[in-house]
Amino acid sequence: MTFSDDKPTMIEFKDVHKYYGDYHALRGINGTIKAGEFFSLLGPSGCGKTTLLRTIAGFEGISSGAVLIDSKSMEGVPANERPTNMVFQSYAIFPHMSVAENVGFGLRKDPRSKAEKARAVEEALEMVGLKGYGGRAAHALSGGQRQRVALARALILKPKVLLLDEPLSALDKKMREHMQVELIKLQRQVGITFILVTHDQEEALVMSDRIAVMFDGEIAQLADPETLYRRPMSKKVADFIGTMNFVPATVLSEAGGQVEVEAKGLGRVMLDATIQPPIKGESPVVGLRPETLTLLYDDQKATERETEGVVDEVIYFGDMTYYDVYLGGTDVEVRLSMRNVPGRPILDVGSKVRVAWSPSALVLFR
Ligand code: ATP
Repeated sequence: MTFSDDKPTMIEFKDVHKYYGDYHALRGINGTIKAGEFFSLLGPSGCGKTTLLRTIAGFEGISSGAVLIDSKSMEGVPANERPTNMVFQSYAIFPHMSVAENVGFGLRKDPRSKAEKARAVEEALEMVGLKGYGGRAAHALSGGQRQRVALARALILKPKVLLLDEPLSALDKKMREHMQVELIKLQRQVGITFILVTHDQEEALVMSDRIAVMFDGEIAQLADPETLYRRPMSKKVADFIGTMNFVPATVLSEAGGQVEVEAKGLGRVMLDATIQPPIKGESPVVGLRPETLTLLYDDQKATERETEGVVDEVIYFGDMTYYDVYLGGTDVEVRLSMRNVPGRPILDVGSKVRVAWSPSALVLFR
């Protein structure tokens, strides 16, 4: 998925700091979110993603810096005057009201006629796939349906930005995956900016045009999913986005943004050093995604490089098999999809194997 960079900016953070008493919850947030973008704030519990979302909504003041929406500073602008609307984790729908009353709740003070408001409610329900559900009692809905009601209630107010705070976390896995697809479709249909808070990296990767990965009140990397996956800027980001093998390395030479390293078990390899140039005298590590490695059977030849090893452990997952392979001095995990090696037997612990890898899939970290 690519996202065009020429879209206008919808949200801008300028050196945003937030203190709760002595606690420094946001530590200099900078970055922009584009109009019409599906953007995620991703990070472990307590990293500050909800706080950052709430500073956009106006539920939380900031200690210094600026938050701009649509090029306007939000300083002193109360939540109800911002062009944003929030969908909460708990949905916060009113169980004693009908679905239509819930969805139309924000239109209480709207000067439009009753009939016009009813039409707006029906439109919003149709948008979220709940056409004809207006008369139902809200308490009788399933989790997924409640979530849709909460979305319809937010969308009816036609915000420029929809803020979603872990909206799917209360749903079971199957429903969550279904709603992820529904949310992507909905965002494309309505075209407004969606900002999602999640601690689930897969959810963020699947849904987002771009993601800000946060740790300890800071944005560690802001990029599209593919860049985060292929070119993480730090070991911490690499480890949070999926799984990565880290292999110790020694720098042999450096020139023109390229570094030649001796990576334990893998041997000599030339790598791009523009993201994190190694510091002289320090030992860098080389990162390899388990999915980029494969095992060679019998007469198969590696298209690029191969290294001999011994299977240390095998974990069988049905369509995937994870192998720990000892490469002499280091262990790497190899994840093999059975689709890529159809009809091949699962290897036993102790088997000698050849691991194929590609230098272009390696990432160098300090
Ligand atoms: P989670 O996924 O657990 O919700 P988060 O990344 O959204 O985590 P925040 O809720 O933004 O994290 O909280 C960031 C930090 O600020 C946490 O350490 C939290 O304890 C602290 N914090 C949040 N709200 C307050 C508050 N009102 N008063 C004091 N500390 C707070």
